[in-house]
Amino acid sequence: MRNLEQQLGQIDGKSYPAYKGLRGQYDFQEYKLFIEHVQGDPFASPSKLRVEVPGRLSAFPEWTYQKKENRIALQDFLLRGFYQQTGRFTHKAKGSGKSGVMSVSRCGQEILERTGCEVKAADGSVTVRLEVGFPANGRRIQAMELRKILFEFLPMCVKNALYYRAVDQKKLEKAIWLAEDQRELRNQLKEHGLAAFVANGAILPRESGVSDFPMKQAVAFRSPKELEVVLDLPHQKGLTGMGIPEGVTLIVGGGYHGKSTLLQALERGVYTHIPGDGREYVITQESAVKLRAEDGRNISSVDISTFINHLPNKKDTHKFSTMDASGSTSQAANVAEAVSGGSRVLLIDEDTSATNFMVRDELMQRVVHRDKEPIIPYVERVRELYDKFGISTILVAGSSGAYFQVADQIIQMDTYVPYVITETAKQAAQDYPKLSCDAEEIHTIKQNRIPCAAKKPQNDRDRTKIKGLGRDGFLLNKEQVELRFVEQIVDGEQTQALASILNYMKENVFDGKKNLDACVAEVCQLLEKRGMSAVAGGAYLPGNLAVPRKEEIYACVNRYRGLKIQ
Ligand code: ADP
Ligand code: MG
Repeated sequence: MRNLEQQLGQIDGKSYPAYKGLRGQYDFQEYKLFIEHVQGDPFASPSKLRVEVPGRLSAFPEWTYQKKENRIALQDFLLRGFYQQTGRFTHKAKGSGKSGVMSVSRCGQEILERTGCEVKAADGSVTVRLEVGFPANGRRIQAMELRKILFEFLPMCVKNALYYRAVDQKKLEKAIWLAEDQRELRNQLKEHGLAAFVANGAILPRESGVSDFPMKQAVAFRSPKELEVVLDLPHQKGLTGMGIPEGVTLIVGGGYHGKSTLLQALERGVYTHIPGDGREYVITQESAVKLRAEDGRNISSVDISTFINHLPNKKDTHKFSTMDASGSTSQAANVAEAVSGGSRVLLIDEDTSATNFMVRDELMQRVVHRDKEPIIPYVERVRELYDKFGISTILVAGSSGAYFQVADQIIQMDTYVPYVITETAKQAAQDYPKLSCDAEEIHTIKQNRIPCAAKKPQNDRDRTKIKGLGRDGFLLNKEQVELRFVEQIVDGEQTQALASILNYMKENVFDGKKNLDACVAEVCQLLEKRGMSAVAGGAYLPGNLAVPRKEEIYACVNRYRGLKIQ
């Protein structure tokens, strides 16, 4: 600490690169400060710092961090608190460009495992990674401004946010218990034969299309009697709500009655939510995947023959590749990849589907003969996917009755309130011709695609350059990976992490022998054991990474245009 102070005195007023010498580790008694990377100039991305509070001083009780899920909730809680603290001090130190910035990850409505804050299971020590804009006037070092940040502001932030005695202990306990309940509920789904659960009183709609906060004055969710289930959780007995059974579930209703809102809440139900979100007890099986049409995406050697055969250009749909998929082929590939990846619940909204992938009506079948139509629509496969492979579908379809015959339960949304209309809809459907399907049975849903080994970089100049493009994608060298339509990515930090993971897989996992499923399993195991530091190489671990789900790792690899399949 004294050493840092001395150095600051010596470099004051010098030109900016003299800051570089500050890289290192400093003992602040109550915590350690690591200056891991120093920015090149005041306008560059801010410098990277790490604060480490030893467990005996942070003193969080063991129950808050020993189980992994609790620990993630604790980390999230601490990071939010630290964010508030830095918010009080950012830009208080003055200078040009990014001088005086103090920032950490900004957490949204979901609780994610982030590198921004890590608590060690072994000893309860707390690490926070933050960015600080080292102050300068023009390019002249303002060391006394940095002194303010490192010796006044930062110690305050640490003191107010990272010690058990400083945080609101009741609030912390509630946050961890709620996370525990959500996890337990997700575990219970399968025992109860449920694909998803929506508690009575849940608030599903969001404030606006660009805000993830709950809508004020929304109609609270209320389960129809027929689907009501009561669940007991560790900290919440007798939680009542709608259980959506496994199988084929159809959500119908007039336009603007809340169908997509329900489905979107289910998409997010794979994540744990913070108290007050409104979707705390909207829980979906962990492997649920939202599927949609995504024309323009890249497809590398995917077997889409379950849905598409006999293309006019004689392209082989058992190993289908294209750099520019159509609506229907992209959705077929999305389904094929998701089920091969192990997803047990598929979520589909007509709003974002290719119509010809979903249905084909009677009249069209009469006019355009079957052998002129390469597509076997989803309506003809949805039962088989469940009956033979145990893969459930929850589907929003307000415009076509074609799914009435194949659905196990039909829910109608009426002014944001769900009703079960299975009987009446099935009766009405009886007068219509039976769905005919003469396509061959599905034999397997497993794709056996073996990614080719890639060259490992030999020196620093060869190293792949990763550039984040926010929530929607990234560049791996010059190759853009577009993830805009992977809708269950909820945070740009997940995208950033996916970039590192993909790069790691390319350099270390793809070997020309293992198939893609094995490759993803391997990297997931590594992440489970060692976290993001296992895959994010470099001189220091960035503080802006959030661990994605296995499903999104799959989705990312599948969209990588550089993926070469043997
Ligand atoms: P649909 O898919 O049936 O056409 P949406 O789900 O898109 O309808 O919902 C239409 C509008 O109603 C959206 O603006 C949404 O925010 C709002 N909405 C949805 N659910 C509720 C609710 N429970 N209470 C109030 N407004 C809601
Ligand atoms: Mg809709």
